[in-house]
Amino acid sequence: MKEIGIALIGTGFMGKCHALAWNSVTPVFGGKIKPRLEILCDVDEAAIRKLGPEYGFARTSTDWRQVVADPAIDIVSITTPNGLHREMAIAALAAGKHVWCEKPMALDLADATEMADAAATASGKSLLGYNYIRNPALQQAKKIISDGTIGDIIHFRGQVDEDYMADGDLPWSWRARIADGGLGVLGDLTCHLVSLAHYFVGHIKELSADVETVYKTRPLPDMTGEQGVVENEDIAHALVRFDNGVSGTMCSSRTAWGRKNLIRLEIHGTCGMLTFDQERLNEINLFVNEGPKEIQGFRQVLSGPPHPQYSNFVPAPGHQLGFNDLKVIEAAHFLECIEKNDQPCVDFAEGLLIEKVIHGFIRSAQERRWVSVS
Ligand code: NAD
Repeated sequence: MKEIGIALIGTGFMGKCHALAWNSVTPVFGGKIKPRLEILCDVDEAAIRKLGPEYGFARTSTDWRQVVADPAIDIVSITTPNGLHREMAIAALAAGKHVWCEKPMALDLADATEMADAAATASGKSLLGYNYIRNPALQQAKKIISDGTIGDIIHFRGQVDEDYMADGDLPWSWRARIADGGLGVLGDLTCHLVSLAHYFVGHIKELSADVETVYKTRPLPDMTGEQGVVENEDIAHALVRFDNGVSGTMCSSRTAWGRKNLIRLEIHGTCGMLTFDQERLNEINLFVNEGPKEIQGFRQVLSGPPHPQYSNFVPAPGHQLGFNDLKVIEAAHFLECIEKNDQPCVDFAEGLLIEKVIHGFIRSAQERRWVSVS
C-alpha cells in the first residue's frame, strides 16, 4: 500500500471531521493509498498540542505556510474559516499538493475564480467538502433516477434550514461582516443545496431570488449594549431554471427555529417522485405510479448493503450511518481519484459553478430580476 502524507489545517468542527475521515478511510475502504498523518496545524497552540497526538499526527505547526511547503506533505485538508481558503488553497496547489478544501470556496466570486484558475493548471487535484452528495441513500436515489424509475425529471424542490442564528439575542460576531464571513446562509447552507441540485438535475442556468436579513443588528459581545450591523442574509429563496429546462425552487434559512440540519429534497418525475431529508439521512422515499391505485403510496427505503458503499461500514441493513461517515466516503473518493488520476467531484471548477449560483442569488435580489448564472 502506497503512503501519502496528510496535513490538516484547522481543528474546529470540520477539522475533527477531516481527522476522523483520514483515520477511518483505510479501515473502512482499504484501497491502494494509505494516508500518513503528518502535520496538524492551527493557530491555537493548546489545541494542536492536545489534538495532534489524539488524532494521530506525527507533528504539529502553527504556521500554515511552512506546512503547505513541507516535502513530506502530499494532501492538504483546509478546514479554516472561509476568508482563509483562497490563500491557503492557492499556496498548496502552487507547491504541487492535492487540496481538500471546505465549502464555500471563498468570500467572493473573484477569489473563487482565482482558486479555480489555480487548480486548472496545477499538478495536484482539488476537492470541495460537499459531503451530502456522498450519502449512500442519495447515491442510490441517483441510480433510481438514472434507471428511469421515476421517468423524466420535471421539477426540483430543495429546502435547507437550521436555527443557529434564530435567536435574535445571539451576539454579533465576525461572521456577520461580509469582509470576514462572506455570504450568510447562502455560503453556509444554500451552497450544499445547490451541490445536490446539480448532482440530481444538472447545472442551474438562471434564477430569480430574494434574500432577507431578519435580525439587522445584533448585540456586540462586549456587553455594552451597543449593536453591530449584520451585513449578510439570514434567509434566501429562489425560483431556478436548469440548463436542461427543468424548473425548481430553493429556500434556505439560518433562523428557522427547531431545524437542526434539515435538507429536504423532492425530485418530481413524469411517473414518480423521490424525497429525502438529511435529518433522516438513512432513508429515501420513493413513489412510483404503478400497480393498483388503491394501494399506491410512498415506499420508505432504508439504507443497507445493496446501496453504494454502505456495506464498507456495516454488513447489516438499517443500522444507520452518520454525518461523519459521509466525510469518510469523501476521503475515499479523493484517494481513488488521486490513485486513478480521475477528476474529483466536486472539484474547484465544478465548485465555481456553485459559487456563481449563490452569488447570483444576491445579484438577482439586488436587481430584482431573473439573472443568468451559468
Ligand atoms: P471552526 O471555527 O470550528 O474551526 C476553524 C479552525 O481554524 C479553528 O480551529 C481556528 O483556530 C483555525 N484557524 C483560524 N485561522 C487559522 C490560521 N491562520 N491557521 C491555522 N488555523 C487557523 O470552523 P468550522 O465550523 O470547522 O468551519 C470551517 C470551514 O468548514 C468553513 O469554511 C465552513 O463553511 C466549513 N464547514 C463545512 C461543513 C460541511 O458540512 N461540509 C460544516 C461546517 C463547516
